[in-house]
Parts: sequence; C-alpha cells; structure tokens
Amino acid sequence: MIPNPTTNAEQILRERYYLRDPKGVICETAHQLFRRVAEHVASVEGADKAVWTDIFYKTMTRLEFLPNSPTLMNAGLLNGQLSACFVLPIDDRLEAIFTTLKNAALIHQSGGGTGYNFSKLRPKDDFIGSSGGRSSGPIAFMKVYDAATEHVKQGGKRRGANMGILNVNHPDIEAFVVSKSDGAQLQNFNISVGITDDFMKAVEKSDDWELVNPRTQKVVKAIKASHLWDTICQEAWKTGDPGLIFLDTINRNNPTPHQGLIESTNPCGEVPLLAYESCNLGSLNLMKMLKRENGKVSIDWSKLKNTVQIAIRFLDNVISVNHYLLPQTEEKSTGNRKVGLGVMGWAELLISLGIPYASEDAVRLGEHLMEYIKVWSYETSKALATQRGAFPSWKQSKHASHSPLRNATCNSIAPTGSISVIADTSYSIEPLFALAYKRVGILGDTTQTELNSVFVQQMRQMGYWDEHLKSEVLKTGSIQHLSSIPADLKKLFETSLEIPWKYHLLHQQAFQKHTDNAVSKTINLPKSATVNDVSDSYLTAWKYDLKGITVFRDGSRQRQVLQHCSLN
Ligand code: UDP
Repeated sequence: MIPNPTTNAEQILRERYYLRDPKGVICETAHQLFRRVAEHVASVEGADKAVWTDIFYKTMTRLEFLPNSPTLMNAGLLNGQLSACFVLPIDDRLEAIFTTLKNAALIHQSGGGTGYNFSKLRPKDDFIGSSGGRSSGPIAFMKVYDAATEHVKQGGKRRGANMGILNVNHPDIEAFVVSKSDGAQLQNFNISVGITDDFMKAVEKSDDWELVNPRTQKVVKAIKASHLWDTICQEAWKTGDPGLIFLDTINRNNPTPHQGLIESTNPCGEVPLLAYESCNLGSLNLMKMLKRENGKVSIDWSKLKNTVQIAIRFLDNVISVNHYLLPQTEEKSTGNRKVGLGVMGWAELLISLGIPYASEDAVRLGEHLMEYIKVWSYETSKALATQRGAFPSWKQSKHASHSPLRNATCNSIAPTGSISVIADTSYSIEPLFALAYKRVGILGDTTQTELNSVFVQQMRQMGYWDEHLKSEVLKTGSIQHLSSIPADLKKLFETSLEIPWKYHLLHQQAFQKHTDNAVSKTINLPKSATVNDVSDSYLTAWKYDLKGITVFRDGSRQRQVLQHCSLN
C-alpha cells in the first residue's frame, strides 16, 4: 500500500512528484496524487467515469501498477504532458537542427526523454553550399544538444535524457564511437551505434566496410569492419558507451512500415519510434501478483490478467487525455496509439518463488510470464478497438490481417528507475544490484546505505538473520563469501555482478520474445570482464534478435546511480 513517511518512496514523491503551491510548498499527499491521476485518466470514460476513477485509483494505491513519471507528475495539470518517450527528426539543415533542439527542450521540461538519429547530417568538414564553408558534423551538434539539456531541468526536477544514434556507415562513426571516451562530454546522452545486419556479417567475415556521405550518397572511405567493431567494444568496456541498436531487427518488427523506417529509440531503448512519435509507459509490480496458499507462494495469474486489462485501458486513455506539445507528435501518437506496458519487481518475484535468477527455470518463467502479459495486453487492446475503434492507421499496418487493435504496440520493458522506488521493489527485469547499497543521485543529495528488504525478510524467516550477517552484508553487499549460508540460498541471492552475463542476456531475450517494443536492460559485467566479453555479449545480442544492448562494467564510469556499499 501507499508509502509511509519514512520510506524512499515517500522521499522521492516529496522531491519530485507532489504538487506544490506557488511558494513551493508541497500541497498533496500520495492518496491525493493517485486520485488526481486516476480522475484525469478516467475522464474519457463518459458515464463510467466514477467507476474507472475508483479502479485506477485502487490499482495505483495498492502499487500494483504505476504509469511512467510524467503521468504521475503532470496528470490533471493544465496542459499536462504525460509521455516519457519521444523520437525527433534531425534533418541536414541548420534551421531544422535548431527547431528540433527547441522541441527537445520543451519535451525535457515536461519530463519526457528524446531520442534522435544524427545520421542524416553531413560529416564534419563536408561542403556547405550556402556559405561555401565546411560543416561541423553530427558530433558538434550533439554537443550543442547536450549543453542545452544541461540547463533545462525536467519539470524543474531532473535533467532531460537523450539517446543519440549514428549509423554504422556514417563517415564520422569512428569519432562518434569515442565521443564519450573522456568521461566529460555528452554526459546527457546515451549513445548507440545504429547497426545493420550487413555490418554484423562484415564483422564476422572480417570484410571491408564502406562509409557513405549521407549528402552525396557517395562512398568516402572503406575501413575494416572488425577494426570498427573492436573500437566499439573497447569503448563500451571502458565507459559503457556506445550501446548498439539493431536497426534491421527493429524494422522487421515495425508495425507501421508504410510510415517509413524506424531510425531511433527513446533514451533508454525500450521504445523504437518513428520521428515525432511518442509513447507512454506503465509497469506492473510483479511482487503484488503473488498469492500464498497453505504456506506456498505462487503467481496469482488471474490477478495478473485483471491488472493487465486495467493497465492497458489506463495507458490507452492516457493517449486521449494527453496534452501534446507539438502538432506533429499529436498526429503521429494518436494515429498509432502506441503504449508500453512492462514489469518491475522481477528479481524479487523470483526470490519469493525460490528460483535463482541465474537458472533455466527463471528464464523459462520469464518467457512464459511475458507471453501471458502480451496475450492479455492484445486481448484488451482488441476489446478496446471494438468499443472505441482501431488505431487510425490500423488498416495500413501489419496488424490489418488480424482483428482490429486499439494500439499499434502494447508492451515495453522500461527501466522503472523512479517508479520502482515508489513501488518499493526491484528495477524492471534486473537482478538485485546488491543486498546492501547506496543510492546516489536519485534521492536528492543524500546517500544512504540500504538493505534489500526481501532479502532481510527471507533471512529472518529462515533463522539466518543476526548481527554478524547484517554487518557482513553492509560491508560487502553480498553473502557469497559466508560459510554459514547454505549453497542454495547463496545461489538465490546472487546479485547483478555475481550473475554470469549470459544470464543477463537470456533474461533480456526471454522478455524480448513477447515484447512488441523493446527491452531496456543493462548487461552488468564485473570489473574483471574483458573486451572480448563485451564483444561476445554484443554479438550474442544480435544473434538473439534483441533490438539493442547496453553493457556496464563495474567501476567503468565515475558515477553510478546504484553503488556497492563496498565501493564507498
Ligand atoms: N526518462 C527521462 N529522464 C529520466 C528518466 C527517464 O526522460 O531521468 C524517460 C526516458 O525516455 C526513459 C523513460 O523515461 O527511457 C522510462 O524510464 P524509467 O522507466 O526509468 O522512468 P520512470 O517512469 O521510472 O521515471
């Protein structure tokens, strides 16, 4: 239920979500926040408005489902922008570049994040007809975007997030790959290389790879594909950037190809979108989908189905009540009506069921669970189409051969960086980061050491919890070194860096199989991982038909949101 005043949830709600009066004093409670959101989102329900307000309100206050942050922050406000995810076009004209920058600033201010593909920009030092001069190139313009982002706070609460993509055949790709190498530049960007299947085949065969000027369509240079690949992996090993976006996989799964190619995703990668499209997200709290019978814990499938139905209706309503900052965004977003329902609390659900994350059983359950969520998401979207009509571009879409749908996409696995703190559960489909950790940056300037509550509860129940265990876990964040703990319990409580990266990828694959958008997942690698491990994981991601991949080697960046307590 609703957080009590001492929890992280209440702290994050106070810092970022509760409405404030003109003097900046908080003027709502968690109950009032969820009431404000429920009423606004149910306002399209006509005669059933009161019924749906109540259902949405209860689902949120029980923390069974939460929408993405902008919906919680802005619903009910005049001109409230409710979506977290946007993609904007970057065309090769100065005016277009700065129009998009202005639009990005407006989106950031409202709490949304923006992704862009910079590949249409002519390379650095290319010819400029109007001035006879030389062009600055995509990386220079990314720096302009980065600087602007630095100074536009989202809703006055957090800085905006950007995804910057450059395709693997752009002449500036080698400079792009190392553009975050110094740890100082482009800090408001995640960067990803836009990868094609042809490039991956060229890497496998050690072929040459041609770089093409997007202005002239002429080949300007041929390089060794494997050399570029090695640089990408080396940089990702060093800094976590660049990630990869698999453009061909994304476009094979594009539900509306008649509207053009998808060239970018939102900042964390969970939603591939067309230029000017937006998507609103929400996540089911899997820890609330458990039941206990005769002392045995299991998944409450009927509650899960019921909550999926409520959540999809909620997210579809958001599209109708949303205030769109740009006319192009309104047109695209209401034309395709994409929503992204995902999950949080996966790691804690597995622990509650006694299934280790690094096991075949966990991967199989993940696939089955997501398939169930997908099936009921689509059934709900179908039922909504019967009541409210299919999404306007349905007839031209790939869905047209089946029954009408209300939404071109239904599912995304978002990182749930903030809403899982409100729901007091583990992030998204990520394993526990550590059993004790400090959250840096997410809760104001304070850093505090926390023990994972599911871990403490289980240890107490089994009679292992004592002062010695507590102090060891506070010191190391782990139980793997403790001889007093049996092997099966150690296995159950393996954390991100103790779990082999292959299992990280297997979980991403399991969820991606039944997610029409994409899965945002960090493949955590221990400090000792090699560049070869990065290369292996990137290659495996392509073979697994993932839409993108991000790796993060422990300690490779100066500042991490979650840190092992032992690092401090
Ligand atoms: N996002 C953003 N700024 C942030 C965090 C998130 O713009 O500081 C956007 C971004 O598009 C990201 C999406 O919100 O991909 C979902 O992120 P997350 O699930 O962490 O958001 P939450 O709803 O938990 O705040």
